[in-house]
Amino acid sequence: MAQPAWHTKAVDEIIAELRTDITSGLPEDEAWRLEACGPNALPEKARPTALALFLSQFNDFIIWVLVAAALVSGLLLRELTDTLAIVAILLLNAVLGFTQEYRAEQALDALKKLTAPQARVVRGGVEERLPARDLVPGDIILIEGGDIVPADARLVSAGALLVGEAALTGESETAAKTATTISDPNIPIGDRDNMVYLGTIVSAGHGRAVVVATGLATEMGRIAELIQGGAERTPLQTELNSVGRGIAVIVIAVAAIVFVTGLLRGFSPVFMFLASVSLAVAAIPEGLPAIVTVTLALSVQAMAQHNAIVRRLSAVETLGATTVICTDKTGTLTQNRMTVERIYVGGHMSSLADGHITGEAATSADDITKLLTIATLCNDAHRIGDGKLTGDPTETALISFADALGQRKELLEIEHPRVGEIPFDSERKRMTTINRDTNGFLVLTKGAPEVVLSRCEYQLVNGHVQQLSAKARSHIIETTSTLSSEGYRNLALAYKTIDAKPRAAIEATDKVERDLVFAGLISMADPPRPEVATAIKTTQTAGMHVVMVTGDHKLTARAIAERIGLLDNKYVLTGAELGAMDVSALAATIENIAVLSRVNPEDKVKIVQAFKQRGDIVAMTGDGVNDAPAVKKADVGIAMGKVGTDVTKEASDVILADDNFATIVAAVRQGRLTYDNLKKFILFLLSCNASEVFTVFIALMIGLPVPLLPVQILLTNLITDGFPALALGVEPPAGDLMRRQPRRIGEGILSRPRLVRVIWQGFVLTIGILGAFVGALIVEGTPLFSGGGIVQTSSLSTAQTVAFTTMVAIQLLHSLNYRTAATTLFSREVFLNRYLLIAIAGSFALQLVIIYVPFLQSLFNTRPLGVNEWLVVLAAILPAMIIIDVTKTRNSVGRF
Ligand code: ADP
Ligand code: MG
Repeated sequence: MAQPAWHTKAVDEIIAELRTDITSGLPEDEAWRLEACGPNALPEKARPTALALFLSQFNDFIIWVLVAAALVSGLLLRELTDTLAIVAILLLNAVLGFTQEYRAEQALDALKKLTAPQARVVRGGVEERLPARDLVPGDIILIEGGDIVPADARLVSAGALLVGEAALTGESETAAKTATTISDPNIPIGDRDNMVYLGTIVSAGHGRAVVVATGLATEMGRIAELIQGGAERTPLQTELNSVGRGIAVIVIAVAAIVFVTGLLRGFSPVFMFLASVSLAVAAIPEGLPAIVTVTLALSVQAMAQHNAIVRRLSAVETLGATTVICTDKTGTLTQNRMTVERIYVGGHMSSLADGHITGEAATSADDITKLLTIATLCNDAHRIGDGKLTGDPTETALISFADALGQRKELLEIEHPRVGEIPFDSERKRMTTINRDTNGFLVLTKGAPEVVLSRCEYQLVNGHVQQLSAKARSHIIETTSTLSSEGYRNLALAYKTIDAKPRAAIEATDKVERDLVFAGLISMADPPRPEVATAIKTTQTAGMHVVMVTGDHKLTARAIAERIGLLDNKYVLTGAELGAMDVSALAATIENIAVLSRVNPEDKVKIVQAFKQRGDIVAMTGDGVNDAPAVKKADVGIAMGKVGTDVTKEASDVILADDNFATIVAAVRQGRLTYDNLKKFILFLLSCNASEVFTVFIALMIGLPVPLLPVQILLTNLITDGFPALALGVEPPAGDLMRRQPRRIGEGILSRPRLVRVIWQGFVLTIGILGAFVGALIVEGTPLFSGGGIVQTSSLSTAQTVAFTTMVAIQLLHSLNYRTAATTLFSREVFLNRYLLIAIAGSFALQLVIIYVPFLQSLFNTRPLGVNEWLVVLAAILPAMIIIDVTKTRNSVGRF
């Protein structure tokens, strides 16, 4: 399909054709447009339907072997109840697996909605943020540095707009954009300078554009392949997959031995086959990765409620292991609610209170007006609809300040319209605009004091421009230091008049931003967020190192760090000092550093590298476009949700919806909690599975009758794999969650000592189960070593019911062992997880039903237990629980 050549049309023509309006945009209610052209999104790989998800539960070879074995045994033995029972259990198992995976999918879907891209749109005359999906042709959009262009659009105006189009054209240089019409209809996309395209990156400047194509109709839509759904595996899932494979091999080998031994002992091949396959199905933990996904997804939901939006599941695990947090200052540690409190003009310092200037009377009103003119015109913040200000808080503060002193940005702007600009970025630490003056032009610059001052040759004093003497210069620098060490964020403002407008200001930076007249300083207070001091304290007890990384002045940064308890006898390093070090040198000293000031975005990459070289797990925050590489490189990249750019969000693992440092700490805590809980139920399940294998294996090897029938093994597995394991996944936090050192990431969940413990516990459980079985055989008067439990007598069935019940009960109780590692099973704390207690009680009630309801008795071959049998069960369980309890702290290396 040939695309209309939008770049060759005049803006007016496009506006008319799309029936829109440059200033007020489309009317609010234009739903028909969205219906006509569809959502502005590229197609995604379809999620599995509920049915497909359910069916996939049976997509496992060993399950089919079991079904086949059940069918064969049913047909050969003319006894179909077993077959029915097994199929029923498998169905239940599938339902359980399905519910878990379905919940995980739902949670991930909800998450995707949270992280959906947004666009700034003008509709009905009001500027608003909308999901980019809802854009339609005719919409007027606003873009600025750091945005990802939300649709194909024709520029209406552009200010120093640079766009990186590598994703579309492969060209790595950014393209300078303008609004001028191009005549050549066949000019390649990369040269269509008046167009911006979906998915390309605005690296600087700003623009207004009219959307001409959305979704599949965009240039990107024409070349895009399907966007893959996030089927990424976390490190833990990878570990479990490989551990699972190892266990499968061992279990299958054991099952084979069980099969052969059974044959040798005279059991029927059909029965033995069924028994060994059931054992394999029960003991292979194929459901683990799914449970892990559910737990991680639930954790992601919990984090979202606390304003941390996780974009990748694996970030939950990494967050829990974080050892270093590198954080921005402005807006993250502080409130980003800036108010101007001091100004320094014409050599005099004044304070501002209640809209009045107080201080040295010598300050000239004209000088102040000049200062305010620069502050409001060299400023990208503006009023939207209802008079509210939008933009960088540093800049909105300046407009409010000017308002209070009776200077309106809008009026000044009519007098001095902007004709050119060199945008602010955290590397230049200054910005300049060129505005029309009565005759000639004004160059207006604001930025970090030492940067601006180095470009000043003159100063404004009482309406006169004077040479800037060395003495005056050093006085200004001194004043800056004093203000900074009081925690103020300072800007210097300067100007000059020129006759002719430079053609490309951005390329003539050095010509434009020189020989300026220093007009004064403006100091803003930006108090720390109240919750930050506590959060910092928490990181200290939790063994994490926090580093403030800021573009602000050394002394300002230091003052804020001191106020929030971050300094802690550590050092402050400047960007210049940092620049002189290589990564290794930095790694050698960074341990003692709490603040990095006046850093450039590229220094952030170096900081991440230095920490990584030391083996740290680094979380790094970022907001601007230039922060994206460091955010990407960090183990946990964190983007600001409010002030962050699209590009940084795209590179991040986590987005802070409230930009708040305390949220990072809360997310780390949740990450630690989740990992703890995952560890608990994984180890619990594995020790239960081990006991199942040991019980059948040992019984057969030492010549006992078969202690558990195949259906019973499968049922136990269903009961304990289900609710208790899930309940362990929502364990409340241990008291010392944030009072211990971060977990070491290299060591997986199944370290050697933990494996030893799992096996040991499985063994002790086995002793309990077999003990109960042997006890019951004696009570029932059944021969222990008949040489073949081939004949299924009624008393053997009773003994098997005792073993079965003991197995279920002992595993349920064993789940309590995983509550907390340090506390004993016989303490009050055990009762703190309500879900777990409900799960245990419910599961046990189910077991009673299976024993006492006649219909189920025949299905599972159980017998009702009398007092004697229950005594046997109790007598077997108690010692086993005591042994595990006594050995668990002594056995454990580190924590669960
Ligand atoms: P941070 O976000 O860590 O506070 P920034 O990179 O935003 O650091 O700012 C660095 C310095 O640049 C500030 O100390 C200030 O002097 C100056 N600055 C900040 N914002 C602006 C702006 N909008 N225009 C001009 N200068 C600015
Ligand atoms: Mg900033």
